[in-house]
Amino acid sequence: TTVNYPEEFKGFAISDPSEWSNPKLTSYQPKNFGPRDVDIEIECCGVCASELFTLKNEWSHGELACLSSTYGPKTQCVGHEVVGKVVKLGSEVESGLKLGQRVGLGAQASSCADCSRCKSGNEQYCPKIVTTYASRYEDGYISQGGYASHVRAHENLVFPIPDGIESHLVAPLQCGGLTVYSPIKRGIEDVLAKGEKPTVGVIGIGGLGHMAIMIAKALGAKVVAFSRSNAKKEDAIKMGADEFVATGSDEGWEKKLFDQFDLMLNCASSTTSLPLDGLLSTLKVNRQFVSVGLPHIDEKFDVNPFTFFSNGSTIGSSCLGSKQEAIELFDLAVKHNFSPWVETIKVGEEGVSEALTRLDKGDVRYRFTLVGFNEFFGT
Ligand code: NDP
Ligand code: ZN
Repeated sequence: TTVNYPEEFKGFAISDPSEWSNPKLTSYQPKNFGPRDVDIEIECCGVCASELFTLKNEWSHGELACLSSTYGPKTQCVGHEVVGKVVKLGSEVESGLKLGQRVGLGAQASSCADCSRCKSGNEQYCPKIVTTYASRYEDGYISQGGYASHVRAHENLVFPIPDGIESHLVAPLQCGGLTVYSPIKRGIEDVLAKGEKPTVGVIGIGGLGHMAIMIAKALGAKVVAFSRSNAKKEDAIKMGADEFVATGSDEGWEKKLFDQFDLMLNCASSTTSLPLDGLLSTLKVNRQFVSVGLPHIDEKFDVNPFTFFSNGSTIGSSCLGSKQEAIELFDLAVKHNFSPWVETIKVGEEGVSEALTRLDKGDVRYRFTLVGFNEFFGT
């Protein structure tokens, strides 16, 4: 495979949700190069459950976003835990990125850089956010992700990666890790500021959840892992969880854990086996249940209003994290010497299909990183 870069990128893409588990190798036109854009030649890319929802089109009642692009491909390539090196810099790039530098890209590819949110370290909530794939730029191009030879993004979202952590291990920190780091840090900083040890519950021990255990520990919390069964108990304890609850089989945990939690972080990709009333009832007074898990668009939370009434708890969500928080997270991982549990899979149609199919079945311990991009694409 040779890539006609920079006119063309190559990636694994679908044109219909029925093809979700079999993206095909495709060439496509990248977005028009902006003055503050950066091109990354990709070395590896993590595989996030969000990609399944996008490929299967389960977060939308409409058609695949790529079908309405005004230029560029009508196919969709996903991938948003990218590590690679800078191969092209726009003429107005000002953040000091260098050609050849190892960098990363998470789930966000652009923000306006000018609104109050962008200016206050909350660019993930910018109303003009463009996510790394399946998202519309102002010029009508639909963004294309990182199961590819290259990816193009605004410099403000390109992360410098420190030495001391390998590419296939830092990759999943950029979407999955950052998505849990941000609400954990924001959700317990008041407790830490009082000199107390916060207690955090992590629900759903998949890609995000397993990183949440390690991150909450590194930030100084006591961690209780919640999973549907006991299958992941030993692993969760190894990751650093102080306690483990199998919500589907343990009895009486709601009472045992009454008034324990400063923060509950839900990382489950579905609400069908989520005992919300029980989980919420374990929060201390006025504390928050943050759901970063985003299920199929037709799923709902099933919760009794009296549950909130009993402890003044609230329920909410959180989107990704800021670039500043990504940099903090990389430093935390290096300093505390933790990294995601990664199984690498060689990129190619077969490898991409295997990763998506196994992730869909929950057959992953605990994150896949697709590797070997330079070899495959001849870059
Ligand atoms: P994984 O598939 O790796 O993990 C999901 C976990 O959810 C599983 O390991 C399982 O945990 C639990 N789970 C699965 N099915 C059910 C069910 N029916 N009922 C209850 N729990 C279930 O996914 P990821 O970690 O990659 O992603 C998790 C979620 O986070 C996804 O919805 C994803 O889209 C979302 N996400 C959100 C972001 C944001 O900005 N908010 C960013 C990135 C991802 P166990 O076996 O322990 O029960
Ligand atoms: Zn993701």
